[in-house]
Amino acid sequence: MDHCIKGRSALTPENREWTRRAIRVLEADGRRSADTHLVKPDFPGLRGIDIYFKDESTHPTGSLKHRLARSLFLYGICNGRIREGTLLVEASSGSTAVSEAYFARLLGLPFVAVMTRSTSQQKIQAIERFGGRCHFVEHAREVYGAAQAIADEAGGYYLDQFTHAERATDWRGNNNIAESIFRQMSGEHHAVPAWVVMSAGTGGTSATIGRFIRYRNLDTRLCVVDVEGSAFYEAWQSGDMDVTATGSRIEGIGRPRVEPSFIPTVIDEMIRVPDEASIAAAHVLSDRLFRRVGGSTGTNFMGVLCMASLMREQGRTGSLVTLICDSGDRYATSYYDEGWLRAQRLDIGGWRARIERFLDTGEGSLL
Ligand SMILES: *Cc1c(COP(=O)(O)O)cnc(C)c1O
Repeated sequence: MDHCIKGRSALTPENREWTRRAIRVLEADGRRSADTHLVKPDFPGLRGIDIYFKDESTHPTGSLKHRLARSLFLYGICNGRIREGTLLVEASSGSTAVSEAYFARLLGLPFVAVMTRSTSQQKIQAIERFGGRCHFVEHAREVYGAAQAIADEAGGYYLDQFTHAERATDWRGNNNIAESIFRQMSGEHHAVPAWVVMSAGTGGTSATIGRFIRYRNLDTRLCVVDVEGSAFYEAWQSGDMDVTATGSRIEGIGRPRVEPSFIPTVIDEMIRVPDEASIAAAHVLSDRLFRRVGGSTGTNFMGVLCMASLMREQGRTGSLVTLICDSGDRYATSYYDEGWLRAQRLDIGGWRARIERFLDTGEGSLL
C-alpha cells in the first residue's frame, strides 16, 4: 500500500474555520459582561446570620440559564456536533430556550424550542424575538422525545440540557458559578458559608456547587430545596431514581422525573416547601429588594429561611448563600397576578405574615 487510508473527516478546513470563528464570538460575548452581583439585604431579625443572593437575573438573557446555554454551546461545538448551519433543538420550560435562542442568533444557527403550552407568554416572545421557533406539546414529559425527534429528522443537534448540564459546566473552576460565589464571599465576616441553598431544574447548578465544595475542601454544606409535584425530593430520600411526579407549578424547577444531571451524592440536605410558601417568599423578597424576583427565587429564599431557622434553634451564627435565578417581570401574569393566584387556589397571606415576622423579629421558626 503506497498511500494512507483517509476516512471521512469532520475536520474539513471549512468546519475548522467556522468553529474558530464561533469560539471567538462566544469569547467576545463573555468579555462584554461583568460578573453578577452578590447582594446582601439586611434582615433585622436575623442578627448573626448573613444572607447573600447571587443575582443571576442580570445576565444579558435574564437568568442563570445564560451560563448553562454558553456551556452547552461550547460543549457541542468542541465535540464537533455543532457546525455551520446545524439545526439546534432543545426541550425547555422557557429560560434555557431564551438563552439558547440568544446564542443561536449570535452564531447564525437555526433554533427550535420544544415546550409545554403553559409556558409564560413573555418567555415565548423572548425566544421568538431572538429568532427561535417554538414547538408546543401538552405534557412536560413529552418534551424530551419531541425534541429528539425534531433534531433527528433534520440531521440537527439536540442540546439536551437535562442530560448535559452537569457535564458541560467546568465544575473545578473556569469562573463557574461556585468559584464566583466563594471568591466574592472571601472578604465577608463569615467568608465560608454554612450552607449554600439551591433549587433544582436540571440539577446542574447544585451539581457544580456540590462538587466544587468537595474539590476545594470547604466546610460549606449544600441544601437542595424542592417543590410540590417534583420527583427530586422523594428520589433523594428513597434512593430510587425511577420516581416520577406530576410536574411543578414553579417555572424552571421541580421535574416530573429525576433528570440525569441531578447528582444526589453531592447534596447534604434536601427539603421540600409548599408552593404557597415559595410564592409568598418571592413577594416578600421583591418588597425588600424593590424589584420583583421569579418564583424559583422564592423557593430558594424559603429554603434559606428554613436553614436560618435551624441555625437559630442551634444557636449558631454564619452566612447563607442562594441565587436570584431570574426576574419577576417574567411572571407578571402568574405569581404576581391576584386572579391567577385565586384560580390556582393559592393563598399566600399566611406564609407572607410568617416570613415577615421571622425576618423582622427572628420569631416563629419556619422549619
Ligand atoms: C433552570 C432554573 C433553575 C434551576 O437551575 P438548574 O441548574 O437547572 O437546576 C432555577 N430557576 C430558574 C428560573 C431556572 O430557569
